[in-house]
Amino acid sequence: MPRDDGSKHRLLDPWLTDRDDVAAALGSDLTTGLSPDEAARRLAEHGPNELRADPPVPTWRRLLAQLRDPLVVLLLVAVAVSVGAWLAEGAEGVPVDAVVIAVIVVANAVLGVAQERKAEDAVAALARISAPTASVVRGGEQRRVPAREVVPGDLLVLAEGDTVPADARLVQVSSLQVAEAALTGESEAVAKQTAPLAGPTALGDRTNMAFGGTAVTRGSGRAVVTATGMAAETGKIAQLLAETEQEPTPLQREVSGVGRMLGIAVVVIAIVVVVTVLLISDLQTAADYVTVLLLGVSLAVAAVPEGLPAVLSVVLAVGVQRMAGRNAIVKRLASVETLGSASVICSDKTGTLTQNEMTLVRVVTASGSVRLEGAGYAPVGAVLADDGTDLAEGGALRAEVAAVLAGGSAANDAVLRAEPDGTWALEGDPTDGAFLVAERKLDGLREARLARSRRVAAVPFTSERKLMSSIEAPVEPVVDVEGAVGVTVVTKGAPDVLLGRCTQVLVGDDAVPLDDARRAAVLAAVEEMSGQALRTLGVAVRVTELAPDAVVDLDGDVLEAELEQELVWCGVVGIIDPPRPEARDAVAAARRAGIRVIMITGDHPRTALRIATDLGIVPDGARAATGLELDALDDDGWREVVRTTSVFARVSPEHKLRIVDALQADGLVVAMTGDGVNDAPALKSADIGVAMGVTGTEVTRQAGAMILADDNFATIVAAVREGRGIFANIKKFLRYLLSSNMGEVLTVFLGVVLAGVLGLAGHGEVVVVPLLATQILWINLLTDTGPALAMGVDPQTEDVMARPPRRLTERVIDARMWGDVLWIGAVMAVVSLLAIDIHLPGGLVEGDDGVDLARTAAFTVLVLAQLFNAFNARSGEHSALTRTHNRWLWGAVALAAGLQVAVVHVPFLQHAFGTVALSADQWLVCLVLASAVLWLEELRKVVLRRRDAARG
Ligand code: ATP
Repeated sequence: MPRDDGSKHRLLDPWLTDRDDVAAALGSDLTTGLSPDEAARRLAEHGPNELRADPPVPTWRRLLAQLRDPLVVLLLVAVAVSVGAWLAEGAEGVPVDAVVIAVIVVANAVLGVAQERKAEDAVAALARISAPTASVVRGGEQRRVPAREVVPGDLLVLAEGDTVPADARLVQVSSLQVAEAALTGESEAVAKQTAPLAGPTALGDRTNMAFGGTAVTRGSGRAVVTATGMAAETGKIAQLLAETEQEPTPLQREVSGVGRMLGIAVVVIAIVVVVTVLLISDLQTAADYVTVLLLGVSLAVAAVPEGLPAVLSVVLAVGVQRMAGRNAIVKRLASVETLGSASVICSDKTGTLTQNEMTLVRVVTASGSVRLEGAGYAPVGAVLADDGTDLAEGGALRAEVAAVLAGGSAANDAVLRAEPDGTWALEGDPTDGAFLVAERKLDGLREARLARSRRVAAVPFTSERKLMSSIEAPVEPVVDVEGAVGVTVVTKGAPDVLLGRCTQVLVGDDAVPLDDARRAAVLAAVEEMSGQALRTLGVAVRVTELAPDAVVDLDGDVLEAELEQELVWCGVVGIIDPPRPEARDAVAAARRAGIRVIMITGDHPRTALRIATDLGIVPDGARAATGLELDALDDDGWREVVRTTSVFARVSPEHKLRIVDALQADGLVVAMTGDGVNDAPALKSADIGVAMGVTGTEVTRQAGAMILADDNFATIVAAVREGRGIFANIKKFLRYLLSSNMGEVLTVFLGVVLAGVLGLAGHGEVVVVPLLATQILWINLLTDTGPALAMGVDPQTEDVMARPPRRLTERVIDARMWGDVLWIGAVMAVVSLLAIDIHLPGGLVEGDDGVDLARTAAFTVLVLAQLFNAFNARSGEHSALTRTHNRWLWGAVALAAGLQVAVVHVPFLQHAFGTVALSADQWLVCLVLASAVLWLEELRKVVLRRRDAARG
């Protein structure tokens, strides 16, 4: 009797309990599962099947976190000092500077939080798309549901490559093996069974249970869910919770390094500025000292691009969303960068480079060969003998072809269904489906055959074995061989492998010895079909004397060793799997981008080579390396073979891992595709593991860094393009932000140092500064946000696929960019200071305006210069005038310009920012001066392009 702990849908020690009692106690049915309504009710009662995440950080905490930046703290301290001085002096009027600065600091923090939110939302949305799923039976129907919706009592259907979604008691298994390393640390997969255990056992020995988070490595089974979410065993392991943290990407690390370095440099500069001002000014009141203090601190704050990390996350996250829209689901932000640097793409053939729409077009047997007409899954099309024999009249050829197609349809897990609308739908492996369709084309044998035999056991297909078998019990044997009484083994698979297990060949209705000449004939037929890009599979049978009961409970390994032997070869089929039409262009695009494409397939070498040549992966006459050859290689041999070979055929998943290692040892950045459970190690080891979204197993999806929602090779190349584009945009706004900050620092620094030369000193002003603290912070607020973000979503301004991949070790902010940044910063400083000099009496150019006006002009020139610079920054080499448009950027620039007009002309803002109104002429002068940033940078780019062209 089951022991129940009193709560509903929960069962203590289900491993000690008989399966029927488990089902009864959990209110489930072993054939129909829960009803959909009951499942929904339990979901509401037990909550989702997921580990409890940390509660979200409240907004006020996020705001405070924004204010934790040491420079901002410094600024706030300065504000406090300024308020203190104001109070000490009698608290007259409003401490304008202090209020304005405080407002700007808060505005910055709010913008920062908003950007962080956006980035997090994007990442969360992606997590939802790539969330794990599970197969359950509900109301008698098998369906795939998000793993978080699995409830206690659900009847799970487990297949190879599935991740077990929750703890469950097994009720039916077929060669089921589960890797439980995640839970128990035991690396060997555990063989599972369904009988109740005798007494208390450790987790790792509960062989009739499947635990949440573990992976099915072999076989299949069904199980009733006993515990979900935090109640499951994985829920009890806290450390798994920590795994979901996103680590900073290499680029984010580099940028924060640059930020730190700039911080130090700028603080030094700020101190120099403050000391210089103290020396050249005749400070008297506390307020004067506060003004200088605020200037120094504002300069430091403005010059460090604090906005950068936030903008960076937003741009990465938005890029990732855009990729998801194109069927490439990138799970980690860091992979976006890695994608852009990929130098090799290793791709499966079937389904990725080809359409995986298999049509069986030829059958070759001992007595001849036939062609099948028609395409797709509709079983219509003539079956014609190559030698003109009329198949309707029977004879040896017909009997053999019928045996091949019937056998292939028996060793088969797919289901072909006529839809009400007259079309045909296939569920399952398209290779299997091809046999079902072909069998019906011959004469609609399927139903008849089903009536004559039923499956009693099966040995599943794996990429290592390259075979699958069904053990069929007579109602009548599949092939009428005289004297047959026992079960029939029907095997189909890779002809070269299968032939090794055959000793006889079917001729007409008789099995005759498979001599060397017949073997050679079969191999020649396989070679000939493979050379035409056909996928080849052999079919063989063996009629035994074993009673069905004798095999039912045999393990897969025993079946394989004892029954998949001494088979009778029936024949070989050729299956067409057309290349994806877009694959050829994608291969060409990858090559142009300096990315090598390698095909790795379990298929026959000639089939692989034919398709690889057709797609332009290798030239005519290239060689393929086979798994057999690879097995004989040492480390040096591996290195050599990956350098010279781009087609690997008849390989197993473990070869993929070696290929990844060998390529990486050569310093290459490897993207590797995979679908089966055994591909997971290679996917993890690759720089970018690419899991198939349609045909891929749950385990591979979780191991991959990226999921291809459409299994399509072209999508990988599109994702690389997108990755490179994002990277190019990041470079753009880095160039923009850094050069803008450089402009601010140099303007203030040179303004103070050269105050005498510019005519800035000696106008009755106590404090001699080119810009006020509030003005500096304003520039920062205006330029750090809108234009920088707009640049992050810039349309591609240059052909990112025309250059070789970036090396991962290469710095993003390289010497060339630093040169650029210094140059633009210097130009900005010169024109801003010129604006001061023009308006003030004295200095290099004679003027007749006051200091406030001169400063307003310099302030305006600096803002406008930054806006012009936004257009420069869109390319390091190409002219800003010939680039594509970016409406976001235009919008951001227009908004910033409008706000600047307001700051100069709206009285209350004039008061806050120490500005005075400018005349139309003065605005024009500012505009002309500021535009120098654009023209001079254009000039520099021309020189640069000439030089690069001269270098070739
Ligand atoms: P890729 O690795 O590019 O996806 P693939 O699909 O051909 O290529 P596998 O699925 O490992 O690779 O198949 C390897 C070989 O096993 C095939 O060439 C075929 O001969 C055989 N095979 C494939 N599918 C089946 C199947 N359903 N039943 C029996 N044999 C199969």
